Amino acid sequence: MNSTMKNDKTYIASTYNRFPVEIISGKGCVCLDDASKRYIDLTSGIGVTSFGMCDNLWIEAITKQINTFQHTSNLYYTYPCTKLAELLIKKTGMKKVFFSNSGAEANECLVKVARKWAMDNKGSDYYNIVTLKDSFHGRTLTTLALTGQDHYHELYQPLTPGIINVEQDLTAIENVFKNNKCAGILIECIQGEGGVKVLSKELIEGIYKLAKEYDCLFMVDEVQTGNGRTGKFYSYMNFDVEPDVVSTAKGLGGGLPIGACLMGERVENVFNFGDHGSTFGGNPVSCAGGISIVERITDELMDEVNAKGKYIIDSLKVMDEVEDVSGLGLMIGIKPKYKTAKEVVDTCLKNGVMALTAKNKIRLLPALNIPMDLVIEAVEIIKNALKEE
Ligand SMILES: *Cc1c(COP(=O)(O)O)cnc(C)c1O
Repeated sequence: MNSTMKNDKTYIASTYNRFPVEIISGKGCVCLDDASKRYIDLTSGIGVTSFGMCDNLWIEAITKQINTFQHTSNLYYTYPCTKLAELLIKKTGMKKVFFSNSGAEANECLVKVARKWAMDNKGSDYYNIVTLKDSFHGRTLTTLALTGQDHYHELYQPLTPGIINVEQDLTAIENVFKNNKCAGILIECIQGEGGVKVLSKELIEGIYKLAKEYDCLFMVDEVQTGNGRTGKFYSYMNFDVEPDVVSTAKGLGGGLPIGACLMGERVENVFNFGDHGSTFGGNPVSCAGGISIVERITDELMDEVNAKGKYIIDSLKVMDEVEDVSGLGLMIGIKPKYKTAKEVVDTCLKNGVMALTAKNKIRLLPALNIPMDLVIEAVEIIKNALKEE
């Protein structure tokens, strides 16, 4: 254990069971630890560093902004925040953006939008928000309640009321809409923390239809799946749906904290002055970074993301040691047949590849522009880790 690790144990709240590695520097998809050992990064900081570490265009964008001004509060207009909102609206056809600082806060905003919309349009008793089992929506008390995994709930009762977690089943969902006064339903098209589970087209489009039928908002959490991760700008674009509200964060800022709640036509006028706010939300440096990211999420890049994702999936799914491979674009889950995901990820780290777990899957979220030679090198290391005695 080096001195950073010792001080971490002494001074940092022990909420994170960190890997025994201190990262000292990184460039693109390669990181170095304190012993100058090289790692290929297939995590991008849990889908955050969209174009890798110390990406030149991102550095240029945030440095320029830092040298101009770093913060003003939301009492004044600023260019980066407005420009990033314009890009998001033009990419999605949504109508308005509220910027926050994290995924959880983006989902808090989404709940407020849904509750206020329901109060204005259906009645103040239509406050229920429906979410799915095995979902993950954040760590605040409200977003924990949204998260459909009981083990996250146990320590922090009582959570925010008026949230219903339901089975991933259209009949069960319809029954919830029928028997409760609901504002809307929130889903992840691919459940990230829940095990890189791609919801079926039938389920997603069925939920969309049911939401329409019961006059509920259809809302999508794009915190992990968003901003090019799944080979489309947002994961819902892989399906025939049009969300009323979208939350996003992680990869949007390329490494600085940012979150956004996008509002569609039905809810665009829900908020009035003072109805919601954030001191740091829409920070000009984070937004300048975000602009440099969103401007580069083009159709050509998406073709590359899909081709690299396909290479990884095709290479691993044929292995005897692999039970199942799931995912879209560069959001990939691998279920080992004979080992735990944690065992494989630990071996990968030892052999110079950083990867994640999600439930019983190895989860890969590499930078969107990861070079093909690093993909090939990393896949060989994962294959060996799956096989190794
Ligand atoms: C990570 C994540 C969140 C929470 O984001 P934070 O920035 O950690 O608050 C919410 N929803 C999904 C789908 C996520 O993957």
